[in-house]
Amino acid sequence: MTEAGWTGSRRLLRRIREVMAAAGDAAARLDAVVRLIAADTMADVCSCYVLRAGEVLELFATEGLRAEAVHRTRMRVGEGVIGDVAAYARPLVLEDAWSYPNFSYKPETGEELYRSMMGVPILRNGKVIGVLALQHRDSRTYAEEEVEALETVAMVLAELIASGQLVDPSEATSTEDVVKPRRFDGVTLNAGLAIGTAVLHRPRVVIHQMVAEDPTSELARLAAAVTSVQERLDKLLAADDLKAAGEAREVLETFRLFAGDRGWMGRMREAILGGLTAEAAAQKVQNDMRARLREATDPYLRERLIDLEDLTTRLLVELAGAERPGPLPDDAVLFARNLGPAELLDYDRTRLKAVVLEEGSATAHVAIVARALDVPMLGKVRDALLHVDDGDPVVVDAANAQVFLRPADEVRAQVRAAMVARAEQTQRYAALADRPAITRDGRAITLLLNCGLLLDAANVAATRADGIGLYRTEIAFMVRAAYPDVASQTSLYTRIHEVVGGKPVVFRTLDVGGDKTLPYLHADPEENPALGWRAIRIGLDRPAMLRQQLRAMVRASAGRTLQVMFPMIAEVREFERARRLLDLELRDAAAAGVTPPSDVKVGCMVEVPALLFQLPALIRQVDFLSVGSNDLTQFLYAADRGNPMLGDRYDSLAAAMVAALRTLIETAAAANKPLTVCGEMAGRPIEALALLGLGCARLSMSAAAIGPIRALVLDTDTRDIDRLLHQWDGAPAGRLRRVLSDYMRDRGLGR
Ligand code: PEP
Ligand code: MG
Repeated sequence: MTEAGWTGSRRLLRRIREVMAAAGDAAARLDAVVRLIAADTMADVCSCYVLRAGEVLELFATEGLRAEAVHRTRMRVGEGVIGDVAAYARPLVLEDAWSYPNFSYKPETGEELYRSMMGVPILRNGKVIGVLALQHRDSRTYAEEEVEALETVAMVLAELIASGQLVDPSEATSTEDVVKPRRFDGVTLNAGLAIGTAVLHRPRVVIHQMVAEDPTSELARLAAAVTSVQERLDKLLAADDLKAAGEAREVLETFRLFAGDRGWMGRMREAILGGLTAEAAAQKVQNDMRARLREATDPYLRERLIDLEDLTTRLLVELAGAERPGPLPDDAVLFARNLGPAELLDYDRTRLKAVVLEEGSATAHVAIVARALDVPMLGKVRDALLHVDDGDPVVVDAANAQVFLRPADEVRAQVRAAMVARAEQTQRYAALADRPAITRDGRAITLLLNCGLLLDAANVAATRADGIGLYRTEIAFMVRAAYPDVASQTSLYTRIHEVVGGKPVVFRTLDVGGDKTLPYLHADPEENPALGWRAIRIGLDRPAMLRQQLRAMVRASAGRTLQVMFPMIAEVREFERARRLLDLELRDAAAAGVTPPSDVKVGCMVEVPALLFQLPALIRQVDFLSVGSNDLTQFLYAADRGNPMLGDRYDSLAAAMVAALRTLIETAAAANKPLTVCGEMAGRPIEALALLGLGCARLSMSAAAIGPIRALVLDTDTRDIDRLLHQWDGAPAGRLRRVLSDYMRDRGLGR
């Protein structure tokens, strides 16, 4: 736009603001505004449509169309030019509106006199709340600047519509969203149910001042805010704190890409020159981005737009400040694009009922924390943030990976009933917590916990588990921005021992690589990361790193039993080499006068099928075995454990897996070496039943599984299961699972 154009635009905005601020009836003010716009733009018609409940756009004010059409002319979203502007949340410019395929003639308006037309959406928080349109008698085109200028006016007008003086406030903010319940599908990151109130992790920014007096000072504010956002991002990434782990690094990259970009900065600058404040300009650009996001299907473009939207939100917060609307409700369902583990921990757990993320994956660190806190969590809920607002009622059914926004009463009732049943069940399990896990036929079963944070180590006391069967040390490494030194590892492992109060803890050495990456451990990208440079392979190639970890474990176990196991061993020799490194650390500790552990047990994880063919040699070397059934199944069937397409294809109770487990359990028993199963199957009732029948006496699982599995153990006669396993030995895949499931149902087990 030219300088004269900007000056004109600023003058118009100022006059609109004066009219809007004047006393009197809101409808009269809207009439005056459309008159002003028509005069200023030299349009024959200027009309304002407001979105009402039921997705209807109603003509609220016009200069040029017949006055009797006001409040009479109504069209649905998606009907005619106006309806399409609202449906796509994008401007429409038509040289000849009559030839527009979706044109809808409304005779009462007298619009047959006008040929050309331009409509822009009136947006608030990225949602359409109305349409502003210009019409001309002659067929003419509209320049891009004219569209921009009308969009700017629409921003200011949005305030009048949203003020609640024209229509009821609940309608004013409505799009189809307020009227209709919505369902979103995602991916379960932690199962569970919740009924609650939506809370946006980044609250919407409320802009109090739309029109600015002095564009120069607004441009300076914008520049200062951009610098400050950049500094904050830099600091976040440099800081050795948990938050950095969750903050997408891409945001910073996007920032670097766009900070000097004309398309982003340039458009905000232009909006400021057109008369908006810096924050209103940022919001205008954000509105546009949201509209594009709704339409974008290309994954790369979507990703970029989401990053840019995130960045613009940060800028808005910087410019206008974001206040959380009141305290956190006590039934909060948190909505975020993504969250870092520490950001999640910042929320009051007692008020947090569920978390919904637009991104996130089962292996994300925040999902691990959610499981530790037992907060239901859904990920990959696409576009949830485009539709949710602070305070919306929400139902989360994380087990079925669904979120219901503004749910119908029946949905609420159903979920409430399911929650009551779940709570009753939890109480039943709690009542059993103090009973030793002994089967009906008198076999004592050791129930252990899998954990990776101090937080879930505390569950040992709550669940009365017999100790920690798998402490995944990599989790603590993953949520840090830098490699933790020996001292901080030592203090963490000491705390773990303290938290479990003398019960046994099995530390697993670092199992990174594959899907578990450390931001500070640089490795070349691999074609097949699950089969690549990971776990003990890294440890043996970087013995100094592994030794540091073993040193910390030795020191933390002073005077206590140290139990260590190594992940992803494929050859007995690897186990021997790893064990030797531990021996060196024990020797050095003794030489340095460090109090030694009272006892040392060294175990091997069985995750790689090759070990099944080295058992006689392996069993002589180890103090115990721990079966990582997640990886063992994945490698036995060559089926990616994280790929949902393969989720149901390979059964962990199929004959090959059962045979592998039987061999392992029998070999360990014959050698009198303890064997634990610590993969997910140990915590799933049907699989656990099979494991009990196979003679496994040690199961390690997540905290939520301890109650149900204890109940199962108490009700099971393992001789029955042993018989069934022999009877159905070698049966086709799926058969054994059905047999065991029927057995459970017939005896009322697992209820
Ligand atoms: C497993 O593979 O079963 C296991 C327990 O290890 P992780 O799930 O940490 O790979
Ligand atoms: Mg594993």
